[in-house]
Amino acid sequence: MSINNAGLLMYDLMSELYPICRSITGDGFRESLKILQREIPIEIHEVPTGTQVLDWTVPNEWNIRDAYIKNSAGDKIVDFKQSNLHVLNYSTPIHEKISLAELKQHLFSIPEQPNWIPYRTSYYRENWGFCVTHRLLESLAEDEYEVCIDSTLQAGHLTYGEYFLPGETADEILISCHSCHPSLCNDNLSGMVLATFLAKSLQAAPRRYAYRFLFIPGTIGSLTWLSRNEDKVQNIKHGLVVACVGDPGKSTYKKCRRGNAEIDRAVIHVLQHSGQAFEIQEFSPYGYDERQYCSPGFNLPVGSLTRTPHGRYPEYHTSADNLDLVQPEYLADSLSKYLAVMDVLEHNKKFLNTNPKGEPQLGRRGLYSALGGRKDSNQYEMAMLWVLNFSDGEHSLLDIADKSGIAFSALREAAKALSDCGLLIET
Ligand code: ZN
Repeated sequence: MSINNAGLLMYDLMSELYPICRSITGDGFRESLKILQREIPIEIHEVPTGTQVLDWTVPNEWNIRDAYIKNSAGDKIVDFKQSNLHVLNYSTPIHEKISLAELKQHLFSIPEQPNWIPYRTSYYRENWGFCVTHRLLESLAEDEYEVCIDSTLQAGHLTYGEYFLPGETADEILISCHSCHPSLCNDNLSGMVLATFLAKSLQAAPRRYAYRFLFIPGTIGSLTWLSRNEDKVQNIKHGLVVACVGDPGKSTYKKCRRGNAEIDRAVIHVLQHSGQAFEIQEFSPYGYDERQYCSPGFNLPVGSLTRTPHGRYPEYHTSADNLDLVQPEYLADSLSKYLAVMDVLEHNKKFLNTNPKGEPQLGRRGLYSALGGRKDSNQYEMAMLWVLNFSDGEHSLLDIADKSGIAFSALREAAKALSDCGLLIET
């Protein structure tokens, strides 16, 4: 599977998931996981309403079948079947006739973007409402309106998906994405499809690390997983929260709370050598599920690699975060960066130079002749010299990459050649 082809396949999968009305609980979430199960064997967990998860409680399960607003002439002026964003996510059921003034108390719009429907939720405070374009809101005349939200909010379950891919060691890399948003592409169908295709790619390769993929509702899902898996948390050596990976903006990395963890250095290295603009942000206790993984009682080395971060693109949490905003080429570019980060983590080892007194004679060992005609032979030679000099058992390949400015992939290749002829041993 080429990376460009993966971009197209991720886009197709996203298009299939796009119409489903997801929320932090309910059948839309389950249906989405079942679609992803065609690609990777995700295990589906169901946690009952009322379960204590750290300081929180699993809420009632929400499901919705239909919703609309009709005017007195019987015209549907707002229809859930046109866009699931039209309903305030987690709305309680209602079927009443009300005045315009009363209706307006339950309408949400974006005056600055009069043609877009906002995405709003009310998970932890019971309410009902409709999200509409500002253009529609402004056009509403005095009338008696029929509002109908055919939903249920009752005891059920919180659903999440987990795919564990074992490695040679018990050490784990965590990949987590919130999967609770309805028809919104960049935030976060892009993260769901990227995590799925990252898992597919890693399945096929030898792995030092185990990988744990979580498809969870935002906040309550990571709290639930952490609360049920405190014994596994110590195995997580690195992690990334995947979100907003399909828009045209530049890659952005938000560091974990520790700030100088191996994951931070691996991602920054990959972005520095990507040949593209990028941005690095320090950790802050706001954002996606890294907030929970990096809470002080866990303090896991989990950062977040996105493109334009949440809240920083105008389409964010609106109907304009759609299949036009996200494009296959950006999904593919993001996936290639995630794969490069995993490659650094997999191969970031320490070596020992077996001939540390003076430089070993590389030509005698065929290490120069092997380079004949390579355009990058100079860089490759430099990579060998750097690896030999700093392979003292103290410096990892990523340390050497940072010191030398040479790409990790070149150092890795040099270390392989030097190991093959006995000049390096892995510590
Ligand atoms: Zn969001």
